Amino acid sequence: MPSPDFLPSLVGSLSVGAAGNPTVAMVEAAFRHHGLHWRYVNMEVPPAGLADAVRGARAMGFGGFNLSMPHKVAVIPLLDGLGESAALIGAVNCVVRRGEQLIGENTDGKGFLKSLQAICDPRGKNIVMFGAGGAARAVAVEVGLVGAKRITVVNRSEPRGRELVDTLRHKAKLAADLVVWRGDYALPAGTDIVINATSIGLYDAEARIELNLDSLKPNMVVADVVFSPPQTRLLRDAAARGCRTLDGLGMLVNQGVIGVQYWTGVNPDPAAMRRALEEAMGI
Ligand code: NDP
Repeated sequence: MPSPDFLPSLVGSLSVGAAGNPTVAMVEAAFRHHGLHWRYVNMEVPPAGLADAVRGARAMGFGGFNLSMPHKVAVIPLLDGLGESAALIGAVNCVVRRGEQLIGENTDGKGFLKSLQAICDPRGKNIVMFGAGGAARAVAVEVGLVGAKRITVVNRSEPRGRELVDTLRHKAKLAADLVVWRGDYALPAGTDIVINATSIGLYDAEARIELNLDSLKPNMVVADVVFSPPQTRLLRDAAARGCRTLDGLGMLVNQGVIGVQYWTGVNPDPAAMRRALEEAMGI
């Protein structure tokens, strides 16, 4: 280890509501676990201060930083370039300093994909995804880029759903269709993977997705992006019908794993990061 007076490399999180962000403990645990002389600092930045914060991070030689909404979109014109999926998604949650350049990446969808690939290969699969917001865009682009056969977006608001389906079809060249969500949705026969990418269930273990539960079949994989509580009602219902399930905590850990890889070049231990995250969340 370098001597303590040797300044650490810095990364951070720029968020509007910074208090109590459990990902700080998760990323710092990775640095400790691997003996990396790095620090991850949470900074509360109001929207009007974002440009100054990015200039400050450049001036102080930050290795990069994460961003939460609304910074994920507003940061784009302040950067020197975007990774392929960040450009398609239209949002950046992870900035990486490469040489003198600040490059915007999106690790949300990549984190989801890494979790999914641990239990199922999305290539050639039919996917039904609820939601068309930021998380949904990130997830759909990544599973599409690795070769999903078709993505059906089920969303309450038609314009938002249409915008995502148009991006998937015309920019990412994927087979995608839109279902405007009205009442209990029945999954079509042939569905392989079901994803809740809405915020339904966040901090509410009993919140119900409008889904015809009889259309869930045991061969399906059911995933939720909601990470708190990790066992959402959807995942409990799906497990009771014999489906394999995937919680949103894995996605959150994996986006952190990918961020640490981007910043430091070290491939961190996800188990150490998940333990720290669960402890910080009191799970
Ligand atoms: P957005 O606000 O961008 O999108 C929310 C989505 O949920 C929209 O599609 C919205 O539909 C839909 N929605 C919300 N309430 C309802 C409802 N009552 N009925 C039907 N649809 C509803 O949010 P994000 O995409 O940024 O976040 C979504 C979730 O993903 C959050 O819970 C967030 O915590 C989680 N997340 C998890 C991550 C992880 O690492 N595990 C990473 C990033 C996000 P409409 O368009 O009709 O309004």
